[in-house]
Order: sequence, then structure tokens, then C-alpha cells
Amino acid sequence: MATIGIVWCGGLISLITYFPPSKSLKNQLNFFFYFCWLPFTVSNYFKAILYGPGSAPKGWKPKFKEDEQFLQYCKVCEGFKPPRAHHCRKCKRCCLKMDHHCIWLSQCVGYRNQASFMYFLFGAVFGALHGTVHIIFFSYQQLWVRLTLQPKLVLAVMVSSGFGIGTVIAVGILLYSQLQIVLTNMTGIESWIVEKANWRLNEVLEKKNEEFNYPYDLGKSANFWQVFGRPDEKVNGFDFPVKEDCHKYSLSIEQLLQKKIKEERSVPFKCVKPYSGRKCPFLSYPKIAIFTPLLSDLLQIQEGDEITVTRGKRHWYYGYKNGNKTIRGFMPKTALKAVEEPKKEL
Ligand SMILES: [Zn+2]
Ligand SMILES: [Zn+2]
Repeated sequence: MATIGIVWCGGLISLITYFPPSKSLKNQLNFFFYFCWLPFTVSNYFKAILYGPGSAPKGWKPKFKEDEQFLQYCKVCEGFKPPRAHHCRKCKRCCLKMDHHCIWLSQCVGYRNQASFMYFLFGAVFGALHGTVHIIFFSYQQLWVRLTLQPKLVLAVMVSSGFGIGTVIAVGILLYSQLQIVLTNMTGIESWIVEKANWRLNEVLEKKNEEFNYPYDLGKSANFWQVFGRPDEKVNGFDFPVKEDCHKYSLSIEQLLQKKIKEERSVPFKCVKPYSGRKCPFLSYPKIAIFTPLLSDLLQIQEGDEITVTRGKRHWYYGYKNGNKTIRGFMPKTALKAVEEPKKEL
């Protein structure tokens, strides 16, 4: 937010200096649009926080009892998870159509705030671009044509262009990836589920070259209006329209099947060397510290802890302490010893 404010102020000084609204109607229009960016971006930022992703009430159940078999159960919320909902450990609730937990909003982006979050990103990128173009013009004029303002002020405005370029690139990449999510109607979490579904089809069921039929992709236009159009009773955060050849709960059913495989393939381990749960443990695990999965949760373990490992990657295992399935994370492979021979290489 501070970065957006700095760029906006730099752009404002540039506009007043070289495009004053008193000069022409074109300048007035330019000024008007420039003034709109800040309230548009800020209001959508706060809307995204205020609305939140929407959550399933504690103990939620589907309308029809027979649908319960198709849905996942959340032990923390003591209820079923609506289709496309996931439990966020930071928000401590099941968030509807959860995409990711956003550190800028301090909460999840999901069903209710997806549109506001997109408007916020759009405003930040194009507002910063509008300001940066004028700042670059201002800098060129002041440095190469004629210095008309105090050098300190010119330098401050020039510095703000760096923030502007940074915002356009960094937030622009995020805006592009979020737009892909909207157009495919597949959240970040869902693309991971689809990836695992394809792996299950090809490797476990040995149906080579078959792809999981993702149920919510109704075409770019329909997907777009599902997020930005008027609220529809068919899309209410708990129910979502699916393709004609798909079951209403096909993604939830796929998740249940994946969970079953995960449980079948989980392996018991015992901790033989404590791990603090710190990122990059250079002192205790120097050889593997640089391979720490920094974006994932890490699990603190003590010697003697009984662990269930569900998957693994280079030098690290992922799992949970027996008796507490809800707290999961990565641990160094060398911190653990298999209780029995692994059924399959993880
Ligand atoms: Zn939950
Ligand atoms: Zn969250």
C-alpha cells in the first residue's frame, strides 16, 4: 500500500508540472483518470479484506444426506467441506473456493473476495503504469531539457519511478496468474489436485494418456462472468455448475480417492534427531539446508516422536506426528528412521 502511495504521489507531481489540468480538456481527462486509480485500488483492497473468502459454518452439512458420501470432512470445523472449499490453518476455517492465503490481505482469497482482489491487482498495476509513464517523462524533461524544480524534489520523484516499475512487474505477474485462474475456473489448489488426479489415472490406474475431466471449466466467457458477473443462485459458494458429462461432486470424489491412496501409502517413522522447524537449518542439518522447502510448512520434531510420512522430496519428508494429523509439515529425511520397510519409494 505504501509503495502504491509513493508511486501515486510521484505521478501527481509529474502531472502537475507538465500536464496541468488548467491547460486543456485532454489534461483534465488525464487528471480525472489518474485521480480515480487510488480510490479504486484502495477501496477494492479493503473490500477484499472486509468480504473475506466466505466460509462454511461450523458443522456444515449438505442439503441431502446422500451427498455426504461425496464430500470431505473437516475435523477442525466438525463439518463437511463444501465442494471447492479448503480448510485454511491461518484463517482457522473452511474457506469457500479457496485459492490461496494472501499475506497482503492477512486472509484467504476465495469465493466472495476473488473479484475485489482482481480489481485491486488491476488498479495497482495500471495505476502504477499510468504514474510511471508520467514520472519517466518528468525525469527526462528535468534532467535533459531544463531543471525547473528543486533537485531534491526531482530526485524523490525519480526514485518513485523505481517503485512504479517494481509494482508493474511484480503485481503484473500476479495479476496475469490470477487471470489464468479466472479464465480456467481452476484455483491454485485445484490445479494441484488435477495434477495429482492425472498422476493417479496414469500411474496408479495405469490409464496412459488419459486426463482428468475437470468439472468447473465451462469456457473462458462463462468462467469470467462467474467471477465478475452478477451473483447467480447456481453459484453461491456452496454450489457450482459443472460440465454436462461430469458428476456434481466429481472433484470432491477425486480428492477422497487421492486421500485414500495417500493413507495407503503412508509409512511409519521415528524421529532419531530433533529438528527445530526452522527454515534453512545450517547448523543442525548443513548438507540439506539449502534444499529446505521454503514455501511449505515445516514440522518441529523431538527425538522419539512417532511420525507418519505421506510423501517426500529431495532430502525432505512430509507428514505429521502420530496423534495430531492437523499439524503437518516437512522434516529432514536424516532426522527420521523407518519403523518398517517402506512399501514404496516416497
Ligand atoms: Zn475447516
Ligand atoms: Zn487463510
